[in-house]
Amino acid sequence: MAKEKKEQKKAKKADKKLAPIVTEHAMDFLKNYINTPSPVGFESGGQKVWLDYIKPYVDNHFVDPYGTAVGVINPDAPFKVVIEAHADEISWFVNYINEQGLIYLKRNGGVDHQVAPAKRVLIHGRKGAVKAVFGWPAIHTRLGNPDAKEPQPRVDNLFLDCGARSKKEVEALGIHIGAVVTYQDGFDELANDYLIGRAFDNRIGGFMIAQVARLLHENKAQLPFGLYVVNAVQEEIGLRGAEMIARRIKPNIAIITDVTHDTQTPMINKIIEGEIACGKGPSLAYGPAVHNKLLNLVLDVAEQKNIAVQNRTVSRSTGTDTDSFAYANDGCPSVLISIPLRYMHTPAEMLHKSDIEGTIRLMYETLLVLTPETNLSYL
Ligand SMILES: [Zn+2]
Repeated sequence: MAKEKKEQKKAKKADKKLAPIVTEHAMDFLKNYINTPSPVGFESGGQKVWLDYIKPYVDNHFVDPYGTAVGVINPDAPFKVVIEAHADEISWFVNYINEQGLIYLKRNGGVDHQVAPAKRVLIHGRKGAVKAVFGWPAIHTRLGNPDAKEPQPRVDNLFLDCGARSKKEVEALGIHIGAVVTYQDGFDELANDYLIGRAFDNRIGGFMIAQVARLLHENKAQLPFGLYVVNAVQEEIGLRGAEMIARRIKPNIAIITDVTHDTQTPMINKIIEGEIACGKGPSLAYGPAVHNKLLNLVLDVAEQKNIAVQNRTVSRSTGTDTDSFAYANDGCPSVLISIPLRYMHTPAEMLHKSDIEGTIRLMYETLLVLTPETNLSYL
């Protein structure tokens, strides 16, 4: 081969290696997915977007009774490996409508009341989405009241104003008790490859497992097991979707991905929360629900493939779907690969693009070394 050609080929190879995992098409999917409301218990909108994206990369797919969506590669294989994220987004429920047409709410998941005042929302009523805003007294009227201390936002003093001036007008818009409410804030990009969005917790996980499926398909990887790409519902109210689907699939191994706290911003105690930073790679958790041998295998893969990782510890529970997979059946070796995130459960969750790529690569490379013969026995 001529030297020039050889060099061209080399450059091409290097290009391929350096090509971003998160392609433009993938970014379009991410934006669309993040901007599609997917409230806990009402995830169908997001699940549809997710399934439509993943279908070309899997052999078949199914949806369980509560809406957990699963793409399957090698459906006939007896040995089953799961990669999992959760699909639901924290939100609110319409709980009480007063005679003036103001709407009081109940939490649906751990949505943060402290950041609610003046936020714009969508109320998902019977006639479609209705725009509204969290009303809050003006600074003038707060400070002008000599006996009152500054009010703090609480679930029982926060209300929505949708423009209706009576209960009747609210109902005429299709808003009903039990309608779910999501923030309007959407996807955006900041400097230096930081992204912000609503409910990156954990739809970034759904995005990443979909990218793993895409890469396996594009690279024609032959897996010696059935791979179940699981986007589970109802994590935010107690890991329920994962519990249901773990019992249905009965996997032999589960790799869970979720978000974890970046601890570099003010008012976070590193002594308690540990040392985790956006941009420094996925975080691997140590804890009783995390299978030590599987974790060590993932750590080895990270080292061999030069993927930066960070470590943290969890105790009684991981607080993620890992617990459901580990404990739902008769013990499923499970591992948790988390992506660092700032401002969790606010409408401006922030993460770094390099961590998305690192987490996708770590899951992908781990799947390439796993086999039904991988020895995960503790003794
Ligand atoms: Zn969460």
